[in-house]
Amino acid sequence: MIKITLPDGSVKEFEKNTTPMQVAKSISEGLARNVISAKFNNTTVETTTPLNTDGSLILYTWNDKEGKTAFWHSTSHIVAQAIEELYPGVKLTIGPAIENGFYYDVELPNGSISDKDFSTIEKKALEIARGKHDYKMRAVSKADALAFYKNQGNEYKVELIENLEDGTITFCDHDSFTDLCRGGHIPNTGIVKAIKILSVAGAYWRGNENNPQLTRIYGISFPKQKELTAYLELLEEAKKRDHRKLGKELELFTFSQKVGQGLPLWLPKGAALRERLENFLKKAQKKAGYEMVVTPHIGQKELYVTSGHYEKYGEDSFQPIHTPKEGEEFLLKPMNCPHHCEIYNTKPYSYKELPKRFAEFGTVYRYEQSGELHGLTRVRGFTQDDAHIFCTPDQLDEEFKNVIDLSLYVLGSLGFENFTAQVSVRDLDNPEKYIGSVENWEKAEQAIINAAKEKGLNFVIEAGEAAFYGPKLDFMVKDALGRQWQLGTIQVDYNLPERFDLSYKGSDNELHRPVMIHRAPFGSMERFIALLLEHTGGNFPLWLTPEQAIILPVSEKHEKYAEKVLKSLENNEIRALIDGRNETIGKKIREAEMSKVPFMLIVGDNDEDANTISVRKHGGEDLGAIDVTTFTNLVNTEINSTLKTF
Ligand SMILES: [Zn+2]
Ligand SMILES: [Zn+2]
Repeated sequence: MIKITLPDGSVKEFEKNTTPMQVAKSISEGLARNVISAKFNNTTVETTTPLNTDGSLILYTWNDKEGKTAFWHSTSHIVAQAIEELYPGVKLTIGPAIENGFYYDVELPNGSISDKDFSTIEKKALEIARGKHDYKMRAVSKADALAFYKNQGNEYKVELIENLEDGTITFCDHDSFTDLCRGGHIPNTGIVKAIKILSVAGAYWRGNENNPQLTRIYGISFPKQKELTAYLELLEEAKKRDHRKLGKELELFTFSQKVGQGLPLWLPKGAALRERLENFLKKAQKKAGYEMVVTPHIGQKELYVTSGHYEKYGEDSFQPIHTPKEGEEFLLKPMNCPHHCEIYNTKPYSYKELPKRFAEFGTVYRYEQSGELHGLTRVRGFTQDDAHIFCTPDQLDEEFKNVIDLSLYVLGSLGFENFTAQVSVRDLDNPEKYIGSVENWEKAEQAIINAAKEKGLNFVIEAGEAAFYGPKLDFMVKDALGRQWQLGTIQVDYNLPERFDLSYKGSDNELHRPVMIHRAPFGSMERFIALLLEHTGGNFPLWLTPEQAIILPVSEKHEKYAEKVLKSLENNEIRALIDGRNETIGKKIREAEMSKVPFMLIVGDNDEDANTISVRKHGGEDLGAIDVTTFTNLVNTEINSTLKTF
């Protein structure tokens, strides 16, 4: 008999060679119907793999990330079979699951695949899936595996197999199809009810541009047709909300080939929006006891050698800047922390003066390969809403709570309600990986967990995910389309205080090392504004939006009155502009709708006579004719409902 431990901690005995599917059946028929993959002793296994030792077993369904991975990888086999049947002579290479779906890289015998071919491939793949073929793993010797693919003339699979150890090689069969594969499949092809080929792209074999170019076929699949339909609708909506598209339409930012890839240029409306975000955070930070500092965009190479950043960014990032003076080298700063450590070091502190909290909207530069660049989310220069807190180990608890409070306030004021957090702690089996005393680590980990609990965060603890220099908490936020984004991190650091020899005088009159916390609630201004654009679809909260109102004179003769309205709005600190073009009022309304201005203020004869404005909300709601004071109150009420005081 073998003992199987389940995730709830319960232990059950089974006959040797019991499979994960049989374990599922012993729990309930319902579970067995839904189980699609399994992990045994932390290794992915098939649901049909006979288990013959004691161990812990996790069963996954479609609702688990691991379940989806198995589902999508298994579908890549089905699609590969369809491609093989439709394009005889095709050479298959690799077909992994990805975050949303899967891809398969193939070398086509001739010609190419275009979106006109997608439905043929989908049809064929679904036909195969409906055959309910079991996925069967089988071990093969290296010699047999090589012979199989040499016979097919597939040099890619031959290369893969040559790098594998004899005795570890497995094939996966289903229907008439065979593929080299490590495993991790759903029980049979029949579970796949909907398959969509999403796109094709070029991809170099093993990502190396000196290698042959292959065709990468992206796809996704689902256990129900209606889930595919919902996913495709989501994709459509995401396309409309793409921050690169909206950023252009709303005239927020741009890129110039001349300036350089990955270096965003903020246009006046975008720069003003950034400034409002910065001022909002500055105000809250001031209340939370932060002090603003300013540091230069470059620093001596030595600074980053001391901090250790040169080791991390030196080779693969921007190269040192040389000066006319021999041997003098500067780096574009990849991080603000070293500069802030030197600010801390300018004078001695007693424990009574801590914590010190230095904040800066600091622009940093990191080289990203051009293929990795993406709008504002992957750039080569970006501004962090950075701050470093220097405190005693005993103050960590309080500081962590304060940082979480500030982060929740920031996200709440911008309309995010759906957060989770990940707390990354040590791997207790490998204590030598971490610097700093065990006692301090325990204190810090406990401080983070306590703070997360006390603040009611929905969080998970990940063992072994901490950096070598300290534990951390990452904020994750779900946007309006349900997509997860990683935001700012709160990171404890025992390393930099050591490297920069930072100290404070304790109550015992001895010198001690402070603990450092890195934190950035937005992460970076660029990434955050991208997220905000996609979350709101460009309909920013009223306090943040570029123009809060647009005045639309019905005809030329109302222009003077429009000017007067604009003046009084400006006096009331409402951001507004006039559309004074010689266009029909209908056209002006349509275009104001497109530009997502929250309020349209239409002014015609009646308004001028009664000293009112006719207010129409973005989206069409008619608020009637009111005076400017009433309108101002309305705007302020709406702002105060989202923008709470900190
Ligand atoms: Zn496989
Ligand atoms: Zn930092």
